[in-house]
Amino acid sequence: MKRVILGLYYSLPVFLQNTAISLYGIVLYFSRYSGAYKRYLQLFVDRKHLNLREERMIQNKRFLRLLSYAVKNSPFYKEFYKGISLEEIKSIEDIAKLPVLSKDILRDNINRIYTIPNYQSLTFHTGGTTGIPVKVRKRKRDVQQRMAYLDAYKQSFGFISNKMRAARFTGRKIVEDKPEKPVFWRNNYILKQRLYSTYHLTEDNLILYVKDLNRYKPQSIEGFVSAIYTVAKYMEVKGVKPEFIPKAVFTTSETVLPYHRETIERVFGCPLTDQYASNEGAPFIIQCPYGSYHEAIDTGIFEHIPAKEGTRILVTGFDTFGTPLIRYDIGDVIRESREKCPCGSVHPIIERIEGREADFITTKGGIFSQVQLSYLVSSLHTHVKQMQFQLKKDGSLIIRCQPVRSNINRKDMGIVEKNIKEFLGQATVFQLEFTENISRTSGGKYRLIVKED
Ligand SMILES: [Zn+2]
Repeated sequence: MKRVILGLYYSLPVFLQNTAISLYGIVLYFSRYSGAYKRYLQLFVDRKHLNLREERMIQNKRFLRLLSYAVKNSPFYKEFYKGISLEEIKSIEDIAKLPVLSKDILRDNINRIYTIPNYQSLTFHTGGTTGIPVKVRKRKRDVQQRMAYLDAYKQSFGFISNKMRAARFTGRKIVEDKPEKPVFWRNNYILKQRLYSTYHLTEDNLILYVKDLNRYKPQSIEGFVSAIYTVAKYMEVKGVKPEFIPKAVFTTSETVLPYHRETIERVFGCPLTDQYASNEGAPFIIQCPYGSYHEAIDTGIFEHIPAKEGTRILVTGFDTFGTPLIRYDIGDVIRESREKCPCGSVHPIIERIEGREADFITTKGGIFSQVQLSYLVSSLHTHVKQMQFQLKKDGSLIIRCQPVRSNINRKDMGIVEKNIKEFLGQATVFQLEFTENISRTSGGKYRLIVKED
């Protein structure tokens, strides 16, 4: 069904594609920015995180509310916590009495974890960097709250969502592989966003991106740092100046390396701020104007677990009522910090997030980042449980799929193969393997991309 719609979308002229995206914008607007959104936005704009006791109180209250809701409304949690006396859990200090929710447990029990029916929820697909696709359900008001939190953060940098122009470098495929016209962006007029394709950033096309940014004059640039960096670097090398100054560059989903930040801030003349979250509903880690990564403890709980590869985090997300995540082993690794931040926020700081390596595969069809590939994984969720992309030393690519049903038939194999080809481009050569077993790293983690040294 989805593919039919996509095919239809691609067959439209650009202005009708803009209309289609804007119509979708109306849907987004009413589901995400209506209802409780405004009230939450005001609340979060006013909240300055200056008092640790107050923040801890909010955290405890929200944790206990989520816990009792989950046990009451999710058949899975009722059973998962059997034998644990929940009265003994009085604050987050007691959280370790609860078992850890692994990715496998989440995936295998997802239908019993949901607390609300599909029709009452907004759904989010996640492929994640680990290559395990999951569909989570969220309550509308939780999504509104989440958007409000994010928008309050953006507002602290002077950018007002839906009122100011945003340029977004998105992992979604909004432009077909070889468009008739060299227009690699689409407009969402409702949300005041221009979406730029991250799949067409070739040397020949870059000048067109830059010219369009100069026409559009965005007040923020958002999205994948690797894409924004590609544009910034090109401008610097070619000596093209931006004819606008954004309030800020907001990045997410990929590791921001020092050279990314320096180049982007130099070229666009504004701060870059990075934010960590996940489609599943992990709490936020937000970079303040001083550049520190703060764990937003009013949006969830972060437990630091020492591990071989660094400090793993277990997350509990306070807006996950539809698909509760409590002590969820999200698979990300961070580096701890003992510093205090001069910004005054009492939210704990970490040095950096290491779990989202900006890993890439290069094929004849283009360069694909881990995050982009994760979209492919999630689009195949009805057929595929997990995927892995292995790049061999000789440059050949092996794609492994662990099918949802062990006796996957030829027809379904064909569908998977066709989708991968469409995504990676027809020029990409790969060997497709269906297997029951995808190898893990020594730390027990799945890797979406594996490279032979
Ligand atoms: Zn700070």
